[in-house]
Amino acid sequence: MTKIADIPEGFGGEGFFATSLSSAVGLARANSIWPLPFATSCCGIEFMATMGTNYDLSRFGMERLSFSPRQSDLLMVMGTIAKKMGPILKQVYTQMAEPKWVIAVGACASSGGIFDTYSVLQGIDKVIPVDVYVPGCPPRPEQIIDGILKIQELVKNEPLRRRFSPEYQHLLEKYQIA
Ligand code: SF4
Repeated sequence: MTKIADIPEGFGGEGFFATSLSSAVGLARANSIWPLPFATSCCGIEFMATMGTNYDLSRFGMERLSFSPRQSDLLMVMGTIAKKMGPILKQVYTQMAEPKWVIAVGACASSGGIFDTYSVLQGIDKVIPVDVYVPGCPPRPEQIIDGILKIQELVKNEPLRRRFSPEYQHLLEKYQIA
């Protein structure tokens, strides 16, 4: 059971509450995510609709899209990824600063979709780790938003030290990401 320290005199009652640093940082991070849309085909159009006024992603603190990997923390991969694009996608991922998260939006990004061919990557998790998969061909904006809500839950609840853990280092090593 978590031990809660005694409230110092003068710092209790109405207007005060106790929390952990991890929860406060998680809340701030989850509501100020900067997505990098890596859109290669039709699923990208659904994302454009998600950004529009009807669905309005800015309600989640995400109106600031970034096309610079170093200024973003959520990689959204939307569309068919050819095998030739794999190394480029991996380079974009490695250029993003930690902590970072990844959503595979739609069947193509998740599994290659209907394109079971010699030239198409059968899922982006062949080259980078993925946190959330959004099914559908294409997924509707509601599904993309559902994926984003799931990412927000992950971000809120991620321990501050996770990125330094041996498990996380092992995950990166599996993908040959230093
Ligand atoms: S999942 Fe369907 S809609 Fe999305 S990029 Fe692939 S073919 Fe297009």
